[in-house]
Amino acid sequence: MKSILISLIFLSLKTYGFTFNNDKEARFSDPKINVYIANHRCDEISLTPSELVDLTKEAASLYWNTVNTSALHLEVVGTKDLSAAFKNEGVCDVIFEGGGCQINANMLPSDGIVISCNNSTEGNGFSSNILGVSLPNNTSGGTISGSVVLLNDTADTKFNELSTDDQVAVLAHEIGHALGLGHSTVNDSLMYFSTVDKRKTLGQDDRDAVSYLYPPESNIVNCATVSTNNHEQSILQFLFGILLAIGIAMITRGRKFF
Ligand SMILES: [Zn+2]
Repeated sequence: MKSILISLIFLSLKTYGFTFNNDKEARFSDPKINVYIANHRCDEISLTPSELVDLTKEAASLYWNTVNTSALHLEVVGTKDLSAAFKNEGVCDVIFEGGGCQINANMLPSDGIVISCNNSTEGNGFSSNILGVSLPNNTSGGTISGSVVLLNDTADTKFNELSTDDQVAVLAHEIGHALGLGHSTVNDSLMYFSTVDKRKTLGQDDRDAVSYLYPPESNIVNCATVSTNNHEQSILQFLFGILLAIGIAMITRGRKFF
């Protein structure tokens, strides 16, 4: 009896460190999520689209597709032809002071997660210590229809200075944001915001997080809603925040993620 009581106490004390992207719980309705790489050459990042596909496949297989307590499965489809906006425009038309974003409607993936090199400082908040920004930017209520991961492809990018393993980890971290996750407070997590030397695997908190958002049996009820454009816009504006938070900022030497 005593051991049972102790176990119960421990169970009741179990806490999680994961958070949601912009503190708003949202998820893709289908846990099988397609991932596409924009089919254009990067300006500064020295990877071809097909090389980015390969690294993204590694990010999926080494990280998010390893969680057997979640129905999540990332399907890295390959390259996709996309409008120039994904390469040249910011994810936000306007970044408000104090956080907040007016979503750029030219860059709304209709399906899954799109990863693209992007050379626009404006609307992304890129600086030399920011490797990328990620945002579920096509959403309705708690349902994500599409997310973007924009890699910092400006002249200031530090992406080329990373080892291949770290580039894979960065892609996995950004995909975590695109799935709906914010930063974890647990410091051995992939989704921890800073100072992780080598991230080769997910931490338990990452597993808990994705198992919560994408449980093994699809028992999530998603209500279908019809939104007016204005309503939609206000939700999207509310959804920002990560831009600076979700976008990973990694000072290469310090391996610092924001
Ligand atoms: Zn981050």
